[in-house]
Amino acid sequence: MAARTIDGKAVAAAVRERVRVDVDAYAEEAGRVPTLATVIVGDDPASEIYVRNKHRACEEVGMRSVHHGLAAATGEEELLGLIASLGEDDEVDGILVQLPVPAHIDPDAVVGALDPRKDVDGLTPVNAGLLAHGTPGLVPCTPAGVMELLAHEGVELEGAEAVVVGRSKLVGVPVARLLLDANATVTLCHSRTRDLAAACARADVLVAAVGVPELLGAEAVKQGAVVIDVGMNRTEDGLRGDVDFEAAAAVASAITPVPGGVGPMTIAMLLVNTLQAARARSLPSPA
Ligand code: NAP
Repeated sequence: MAARTIDGKAVAAAVRERVRVDVDAYAEEAGRVPTLATVIVGDDPASEIYVRNKHRACEEVGMRSVHHGLAAATGEEELLGLIASLGEDDEVDGILVQLPVPAHIDPDAVVGALDPRKDVDGLTPVNAGLLAHGTPGLVPCTPAGVMELLAHEGVELEGAEAVVVGRSKLVGVPVARLLLDANATVTLCHSRTRDLAAACARADVLVAAVGVPELLGAEAVKQGAVVIDVGMNRTEDGLRGDVDFEAAAAVASAITPVPGGVGPMTIAMLLVNTLQAARARSLPSPA
């Protein structure tokens, strides 16, 4: 069987178009446009490309974005001061600090300094807690993008066996929680899982978020499964996912490519989150 390739670029374009229309409506009502503030510490070229793409995406949907580029030697206190001032700035709806930060800065302190209402990456303990509680606030962008892809593909999650490989706070754990909320039966695998392939082969929906190029082959994919490959691994042969695409596509019913699968969804969901944050802040506070 040749699996259907899930076109993340097309789904992301549809999400961005939806956001563009909603931004217009928000601007009309609120008299202002949602604003995303980005922060980079240092001059990591990959971070600069990611952030540039995020600014371009904001512009395309009619949102404002402002950037703060700090020198690599910037101290933690100065960075936390900037994050606090962005938190207090009424014109800023979303704050995104591009990770990783240089080694002398504690990433947990950075995340902890974010105003949860502006935490468009969904990383603060408050947003992680709301998700764990089953009452999501701002959900991390990549997991939200995975769910959007599954919804767009019409994948039945109710009662399905879902297996997530990877338990990071950024991807694996929130994806597992969202799948559970969608009434899937969820197994969360990691580096200590015994017989990973056997666990994966039970999955109707397999989500790989590992960071090991082509770790999962045909033996890890059930006949007819839907495979979502979050992995983005730079190799000598170019960008590769965590799944061996050719091998898995011979067994699966649908699969995301790398690139062009989950990647474009992450930025699209950042726009969704920024608009959501702007709307939530516009609501009148309870008397
Ligand atoms: P991470 O924080 O390094 O977590 C990796 C997870 O994979 C850990 O839970 C680890 O288990 C598990 N793992 C590692 N080796 C394994 C193995 N051999 N067998 C089973 N599990 C194993 O990575 P991440 O931030 O979640 O990112 C995962 C991948 O997604 C990376 O390739 C990253 O580039 C990509 N990514 C893509 C996007 C996108 O927009 N497409 C966004 C974010 C991340 P332990 O917990 O036991 O160590």
